[in-house]
Amino acid sequence: MANKSQQITATADSIACIRDEHKMLREQVRRFVDEQVKPRAEGWEESGMVPRETLRQMGELGFFGIRYPEEYGGSAMDTLATAVLAEELGRSTFGGFSVTVLVHTDMASPHLMHAGSAEQLRRWMPKIISGECITAVAVTEPDAGSDVASMRSSARREGDSYVLNGTKTFITNGVHADLYFVAAKTNPTSRGAHGISMFAVEKGTPGFSVSRALKKQGWLCSDTAELAFDNVRVPADQRIGEENRGFYSIMRNFQNERLVLGAMAMGESLAAIDITLEYVRNRKAFGGVLWDKQAIRQRLAMLAAKVEAGRQLIYSTAWLDAQKFDCVKQVSMVKAYWGELVNQVTYDCLQFHGGMGYMRESTIERMARDARVHAFGGGATEVMLEEVAKRMV
Ligand SMILES: Cc1cc2nc3c(=O)[nH]c(=O)nc-3n(C[C@H](O)[C@H](O)[C@H](O)COP(=O)(O)OP(=O)(O)OC[C@H]3O[C@@H](n4cnc5c(N)ncnc54)[C@H](O)[C@@H]3O)c2cc1C
Repeated sequence: MANKSQQITATADSIACIRDEHKMLREQVRRFVDEQVKPRAEGWEESGMVPRETLRQMGELGFFGIRYPEEYGGSAMDTLATAVLAEELGRSTFGGFSVTVLVHTDMASPHLMHAGSAEQLRRWMPKIISGECITAVAVTEPDAGSDVASMRSSARREGDSYVLNGTKTFITNGVHADLYFVAAKTNPTSRGAHGISMFAVEKGTPGFSVSRALKKQGWLCSDTAELAFDNVRVPADQRIGEENRGFYSIMRNFQNERLVLGAMAMGESLAAIDITLEYVRNRKAFGGVLWDKQAIRQRLAMLAAKVEAGRQLIYSTAWLDAQKFDCVKQVSMVKAYWGELVNQVTYDCLQFHGGMGYMRESTIERMARDARVHAFGGGATEVMLEEVAKRMV
């Protein structure tokens, strides 16, 4: 018979497809988060950024290359490893820290890895994996969010360069990144999805500037920016992938991005429930503790059931992806499910903290603010449900 603490630990291992290498990764990331992130991240929230030193340390520990080939310094693991990384970062309770890392590892740099030439990979991948070069991805524009194809930024071919013009907004790592993967229209006459290409633009390229650092409701230690491109001359050999095929690589990379955001939200939900259990089991009220109230116990139990179901969905989707099955429907389900559930979990958990949950000094207050973005960032729930619905008939 397992004792109580073994049962709690068993939750972390209730995923059948997790192997020893994933368990080791989980332990390493969890240790790093406990020792290096949790004690410091309040300060990062104040300063609005994750220090470079911490990112370099993560690079040195191998956390930035878990999916990338060994020849560039990676460890060539599978999609399940990505889910483990995102879950454990989510458990840190600092969404701004998690997204800083995950944009670099799983949303921006995959553009290079999936479509870059051998020369481009040699040039940037080792530095991306070591944490020397931090990346951002710039797709969203003031007038083009969910509707990616309606973007207006342009890249006009001139000799052996492209000339980029336009504005990007809400770009994570936008202020502090070194390398930006930027989407722009290379064929202005073609409408919709056709005519978009991706470019690697280095910080310091003349005409490229951070026009504004944006202030947000949550994710305070993640820097978010508006970017301006004013006749930015980008060498043609910095186009990533085929000309006019950028929309398709954005859609491909969205799959990984959405799975990762779901796994991050899942880690946050697990942590929120743990924190709240601790709180309600100690908070005295009506001659006992809050946990004595059936209404509270049952709501937490139902949340735990939904979280466990969603956790299985994430890992089964990651497994499908690792086996190279088409899983757009499942990934869209993950993003829709977790974008909503993490908000429900943090809302209820804050409720059970009462007034303390409304205070800036409480972890759950930050977590509830951080959670809000999950319902639209990287794919709004409504858009994700359309993707699911399309595949139901
Ligand atoms: C903190 C933060 C970080 C971000 N980081 C990045 C980044 O690094 N790089 C990047 O390129 N982008 C980034 N984004 C942009 C993000 O992905 C977009 O916010 C998201 O795609 C939604 O676009 P939008 O905000 O323009 O909302 P809109 O597209 O204007 O949609 C507004 C709302 O309308 C509803 N809606 C939209 N479409 C439909 C539909 N088809 N059917 C029904 N309802 C619909 C949804 O409720 C949606 O929330 C970030 C955003 C935030 C807030």
